[in-house]
Amino acid sequence: MKNICVFCGSSFGIHPEYSEAAVALGQALVDQQIGLIYGGGNVGLMGEIARTVFEQGGHVTGVIPKALADREVAYTELTDLRIVKDMHERKALMADLADGFIAMPGGFGTLEEFFEAITWSQLAIHNKPCGLLNIGNFYDLLIRFLDHTVEHGFVPQANRNMILMDANPQKLIEKLRHYAPATLDKAKLALQHKKEREA
Ligand code: AMP
Repeated sequence: MKNICVFCGSSFGIHPEYSEAAVALGQALVDQQIGLIYGGGNVGLMGEIARTVFEQGGHVTGVIPKALADREVAYTELTDLRIVKDMHERKALMADLADGFIAMPGGFGTLEEFFEAITWSQLAIHNKPCGLLNIGNFYDLLIRFLDHTVEHGFVPQANRNMILMDANPQKLIEKLRHYAPATLDKAKLALQHKKEREA
């Protein structure tokens, strides 16, 4: 595990523990000599984690679309800041560079990025681990909803189980390291269900 992509809020959130967790995760990456791949911003939790890794001498790769960089939210001091055309190019490059993904607390951007990573995993486009850093039980409600999607037959249990979770940064990284990719390909499964219904 050489590089982990972290998705997180461009805001700080209302509890200081979110910022503290961004620093703790950044520190854990440095301690384990894992590079940080992230959205290149210098705001909110994004700025917190990037500053921590950068100032401790770790490797940070920021990937930011031109439009956001122009709006002066980029962490311009980074030695490896990549300016890309748009959000799609950003996500594709971040996914390419990373060996795994972690989402910290965040909003629409964080959720969208995390769900794209897990969706690509369930379609076997990649088989990189995806984990939620569940600081202050932030993701409990989401997990309850995801269990609801399983109960209602939209997500196979095996795919739901692909989402790793821990409140502790080191333990979550450990889970990412030991992840065994699920063999259930959602596209194949959908085709199989279609055939069963038509038979
Ligand atoms: P959000 O969770 O809605 O605050 O969005 C955070 C995620 O979306 C990050 O992982 C970034 O990739 C992207 N993003 C949103 N706002 C910004 C910003 N101001 N600067 C850089 N990236 C951002």
